Amino acid sequence: MKEPRVGFISLGCPKALVDSEQIITELKSEGYQISPDYDDADLVVVNTCGFIDSAVEESLESIGEALDSNGKVIVTGCLGARAEEITSRFPKVLSVSGAHAKDEVVSAVHKHLPPLHNPYTDLVPAQGIKLTPNHYAYLKISEGCNHRCSFCIIPSMRGDLVSRPIDEVMLEAETLAQAGVKELLVISQDTSAYGVDLNYQSRIWRNTTYNTQFHSLVEALAELGIWVRLHYVYPYPHVDKVIPLMAEGKILPYLDIPFQHASPEILKRMKRPAASENNLKRIQSWREICPDITLRSTFIVGFPGETEQDFETLLDFLTEAQLDRVGAFAYSAVDGAKANELPAAVPESLKKERLQRFMQHQARISAKRMQGKIGRQAEVLVDEVVAQGAVARSQADAPEIDGQVFIDGATHLKPGQWVQVEFEEADEHDLWAHLI
Ligand code: SF4
Repeated sequence: MKEPRVGFISLGCPKALVDSEQIITELKSEGYQISPDYDDADLVVVNTCGFIDSAVEESLESIGEALDSNGKVIVTGCLGARAEEITSRFPKVLSVSGAHAKDEVVSAVHKHLPPLHNPYTDLVPAQGIKLTPNHYAYLKISEGCNHRCSFCIIPSMRGDLVSRPIDEVMLEAETLAQAGVKELLVISQDTSAYGVDLNYQSRIWRNTTYNTQFHSLVEALAELGIWVRLHYVYPYPHVDKVIPLMAEGKILPYLDIPFQHASPEILKRMKRPAASENNLKRIQSWREICPDITLRSTFIVGFPGETEQDFETLLDFLTEAQLDRVGAFAYSAVDGAKANELPAAVPESLKKERLQRFMQHQARISAKRMQGKIGRQAEVLVDEVVAQGAVARSQADAPEIDGQVFIDGATHLKPGQWVQVEFEEADEHDLWAHLI
């Protein structure tokens, strides 16, 4: 008898990707076949994103396409928190659930496409099913967020912070490392707040007591001997404690810190966590301890009330901070966000103009920092091998969002291999290197 086949469309951020992986792992363990498109599927699951308007539009389009091509559609993910909007536009959708709703999705699949009776026909690897290549994986340490940034609706969709106890996280991390994963990307909405909801509860992993807490987690992950990269970290004073571990090479010297702005007035309007910290001073002290640290951040320009002076403060911050990797967006209103009620909206044309000025300003900084790498030697991780050579990443490059290292002619390398290279050329994002 043919196994039931589920088409799976996964949209949105790495956190949504981890939800998808968990749902797929469960379905595979029950004997379902998974396909990445709709055509030969018996039913389609669409994991949606609801972060910004363009993501909402993409999610709605995917639901519409799946209904047209397949007809049987289950919707889950962030946009699912706005169930009425989905069901009124697509009344034929079979079920709608919010983010982090594995059990609801799986029971909806059972209802509309019952599993075969032999659940052992398709054994699942111990590390679960990964949607990323075999050599790197996202490690989700918590769900939800205790902050209430005025431009963000994630807490209303995903709720307050719920951390996973440290032993549970470490068992998953260990299983991934044993399965050949070479790089773990730690994700959450607020990595530095990890464990606060559990009162930093102590747990045992490898016969040692660890607290469910940011610094303790980083120490435990450092034991695995693979690359560990920290995302979504806010610049609280306790973050300082992990910088020496980076300097000692125990975890990657890389921090992804979404600063979003630098003007105190705008940060206050944004209700950002750690808004009153002196970030420049903090960055300077991190670089004193770990000169090779790579700092990545994202910013929003044109937030309501942003004056020319606020914007200049932001550009000055970039000049001083000398960040390595920067992403920026022009502010766009998100349905349901508090920021929509703020006065003094910035006109669209001015937002665009500021975004352009911001990007040009940072491009010069990034390019200069990249030029500084030429002639240096480093370990890189190979992601793929193509006809011209190998495509790798350095410690300064997270997958998908940062740059790449191209090693011409190195077609004998394998994905997941660490190799030593010397950088010989750079542009503002990527590097070219030869093997040493
Ligand atoms: S920290 Fe702010 S932007 Fe990030 S998820 Fe929480 S509320 Fe949203």
